[in-house]
Amino acid sequence: MVHSKVVIIGSGPAAHTAAIYLSRAELQPVLYEGMLANGTAAGGQLTTTTDIENFPGFPDGIGGGELMENMRKQSVRFGTEVITETISKVDLSQRPFKLWTEWSDGPEDAPARTADAVIIATGANARRLDLPGEEKYWQNGISACAVCDGAVPIFRNKPLFVIGGGDSAAEEAMFLAKYGSSVTVLVRRDKLRASKAMANRLLAHPKVTVRFNSVATQVLGEEKPNGLMTHLKVKNVVSGEEEVVDANGLFYAVGHDPATALFKGQINLDEESYIVTKPGTSYTSVEGVFACGDVQDKRYRQAITSAGSGCIAALEAEKFISEHESQEPANETEVPADGNAPEYKQNPLL
Ligand code: FAD
Ligand code: NDP
Repeated sequence: MVHSKVVIIGSGPAAHTAAIYLSRAELQPVLYEGMLANGTAAGGQLTTTTDIENFPGFPDGIGGGELMENMRKQSVRFGTEVITETISKVDLSQRPFKLWTEWSDGPEDAPARTADAVIIATGANARRLDLPGEEKYWQNGISACAVCDGAVPIFRNKPLFVIGGGDSAAEEAMFLAKYGSSVTVLVRRDKLRASKAMANRLLAHPKVTVRFNSVATQVLGEEKPNGLMTHLKVKNVVSGEEEVVDANGLFYAVGHDPATALFKGQINLDEESYIVTKPGTSYTSVEGVFACGDVQDKRYRQAITSAGSGCIAALEAEKFISEHESQEPANETEVPADGNAPEYKQNPLL
């Protein structure tokens, strides 16, 4: 069993930003990037998409996979140990925290690692609907993130559809109205789940139509390789009527599943299983356990907000570790002979 000061679980922008800060602070972080954890490759959600156009610093855009490969290289450059395994069991009941990896997590197995602090950055997955045609036109007209993909040329001045009746669907539909010729929201029930204020704005929007009691049943489109979607089959669940409508974009806003099964019963989760953090911080209900990225953010869900929260988690973990260490016998090697403390000890913001 190996002990580390800090372990990061996850491999998206939040995890790697935390790793870059902690490794530059010479805390030798260990990052478990997962082996197809939750069905997603190491690198997280961005590995499932093409160009990222809204991450600052890349005026011509950058491929999602390439961006994550760069982040990983930057983590490693400063000394992060990246382990391609999935954390499958944790014990956060007392410090040091214990972590087990997949296939070695039976009752008799010793933990793979212990840690003074743990940063959870396991992310979330957008829910899919498994419609006929979904696999074929995924990212060729179908998306789970209007803010990410809405501005691309294939959606300009075209009829667009959103599925869902919550705040995300409302927000995404109003965002897409800037680009599409029209936006239709398909709501499976006879009412919206969105907050009153958001629902009122949606229903009053001149470019948005809300179709209640309506579901999509099939996505249709071009037959050539990488062909785009062109039509959608929509069913009225009350009358049973089905029709095929022009549709060049389909955006799912039917909720996300945060990757928190592993932590259930050990830290506070909200009713939708997101980790509860103290607002504006990465503090969870367990001292020494920090959370960042989409696993604790159901509202913004962007690469840059995840990265920002990863930075916060690293700074807070670093502070926690140094306070924890200062209660232990002084480590003579920590302060160099010239009396200058390392940069991260002088400036709490770096
Ligand atoms: P995630 O990216 O969710 O990554 C977490 C990863 O950690 C998991 O995927 C898995 O590999 C690993 N992991 C999970 N559990 C474990 C475990 N137990 N042990 C070890 N490893 C584990 N945002 C933008 O800003 N711009 C865009 O253009 C954009 N486009 C997108 C396109 C698509 C198709 C999708 C799905 C999302 C897009 N997003 C975009 C959103 C963005 O990808 C997310 O907000 C961001 O990736 C969240 O980062 P994260 O660090 O929280 O974790
Ligand atoms: P929600 O779970 O609130 O809404 C999901 C919507 O998708 C519901 O209308 C649901 O229908 C519908 N849905 C689920 N499954 C299907 C399906 N198989 N077929 C068709 N429709 C389906 O998720 P959101 O992402 O909208 O919101 C998550 C949380 O984030 C909420 O707490 C929300 O308030 C918050 N949020 C707040 C924002 C803001 O304040 N600006 C912005 C975005 C999110 P049904 O109602 O019938 O269950």
